[in-house]
Amino acid sequence: MVKHSKYIIIGAGLSGLTTAYQLLKKGESDILILEGRDRIGGRILTQNHIDFGPAWYQPTHQNLQQLLKDLDVGKFTQYSKGKSVLVYNTMANAHFFETDQTQPSAYRIAGGSYTIIKKLANLVQDRIRLNTRVTGFKANEKYISVLTERDTFSAEKVVVTLPPKLATELKYTPQLPETLLWTMESTQTWMSNAIKVGISYKRPFWRENKFSGTIIGQIGPVMEIYDHTNANETAFSLMGFVNESLRSYSAEDRKERILSYLETYLGKTVRDYISYKEKDWSQDVFTNGTDLKSTYLSPKYGNEAFSSFYMGDKLLFSGTETSPQFGGYLEGAVISGIIAANKL
Ligand SMILES: Cc1cc2nc3c(=O)[nH]c(=O)nc-3n(C[C@H](O)[C@H](O)[C@H](O)COP(=O)(O)OP(=O)(O)OC[C@H]3O[C@@H](n4cnc5c(N)ncnc54)[C@H](O)[C@@H]3O)c2cc1C
Repeated sequence: MVKHSKYIIIGAGLSGLTTAYQLLKKGESDILILEGRDRIGGRILTQNHIDFGPAWYQPTHQNLQQLLKDLDVGKFTQYSKGKSVLVYNTMANAHFFETDQTQPSAYRIAGGSYTIIKKLANLVQDRIRLNTRVTGFKANEKYISVLTERDTFSAEKVVVTLPPKLATELKYTPQLPETLLWTMESTQTWMSNAIKVGISYKRPFWRENKFSGTIIGQIGPVMEIYDHTNANETAFSLMGFVNESLRSYSAEDRKERILSYLETYLGKTVRDYISYKEKDWSQDVFTNGTDLKSTYLSPKYGNEAFSSFYMGDKLLFSGTETSPQFGGYLEGAVISGIIAANKL
């Protein structure tokens, strides 16, 4: 039997959950969210107090801040006290710098970025169906059918929050306009090629040695690493971005290169970790699909083509890459979620 809902949202990331939350606030409750992964959050992933997806936001991200306020989620500033390291050349001496403590560089979400997802999911409750990978859509005069690997669903309106490039892998009957498909295909998925590393410790030994934990250097095995201690200061870790050139190395080799690099600047205690974990987003089919392309080349987001409904006014594209402002960021995901709910 085909299950019918007024609205179906594809993807339980920040954008999809924001749309559902906004619809609920408008008194709409006949909503179903289909999520391909076995978890919610999409690119938001906090494990063992470490944000392997987004970790920071800026004061200009006002819609996100309003949402955090509405959901009673706290914030704290990125730790940056003490000596930071700038690496120009791995063979030469390091350069040290200190940041202005009166100007916070970025904010973090108390409890980790996943806190916002947890709070939204509590409001949306049992409207989310996990492990439900959508494969395509079929529209007729009255409804739009959502095809998944197992079941078929139908709705009056569908919102697709997949990164647009990934959404080109789905089947649309009738077919989408060629120009739209081309726009989707050429919209890079933000951070889809990032590799993050998170290393946790019993003590913040770098702080005790008057280091901030920040090491920046495009040429090292880790391009950026930061103190990633939690808001309550009960879990201590370093988190950062691994140089993509290490993707082809074995896991063991990569880990050794990363630890040895960090040891050069923070000392041998770097090796006394409690846990070490990496997350390579390029290998995640629910973010990157099967086609890896660098996303660090000035991507363009919020294309006009994403502002219209398609398939007889029944299907709308949303998600951070469609946002007219702050595309790629959490703020863009929230903006796209609000716009989609208003359009519905
Ligand atoms: C490593 C990394 C670091 C980042 N750092 C920051 C940061 O510090 N600050 C910041 O503001 N932003 C950052 N971002 C970006 C931020 O994570 C995104 O802007 C935001 O999470 C996007 O939310 P979304 O809902 O638009 O998309 P997504 O989170 O990608 O949600 C799309 C959802 O669709 C689901 N899906 C995919 N295919 C299917 C299918 N076929 N069927 C059903 N469901 C499907 C996915 O599983 C996912 O849940 C970072 C991202 C990454 C990966």
